[in-house]
Amino acid sequence: SLKITDECINCDVCEPECPNGAISPGAETYDIAPEKCTECVGHYDTPQCVEVCPVDCIIKDPAHAENQDQLWAKFQKLTGNA
Ligand code: SF4
Ligand code: SF4
Repeated sequence: SLKITDECINCDVCEPECPNGAISPGAETYDIAPEKCTECVGHYDTPQCVEVCPVDCIIKDPAHAENQDQLWAKFQKLTGNA
């Protein structure tokens, strides 16, 4: 999963771009739900939120580090193909 750092300016540009509905407004900044973020694996070649974020505040979440196989399995689970 990726995560949003406290550099986030709450611009709301990323939220509609997420194919998994993983992004939502949080108390201080926007948040990514780790159980829904596939790092865009299964949908796009690159993380769409990272592509659009104007302040580059979206990074790999060290607390939810996953390899490609794990991200693919999450995509399949989310789409009911597991
Ligand atoms: Fe959503 Fe993709 Fe960003 Fe994860 S990397 S939060 S799946 S847009
Ligand atoms: Fe925050 Fe970046 Fe998303 Fe804007 S695009 S809400 S700055 S994470």
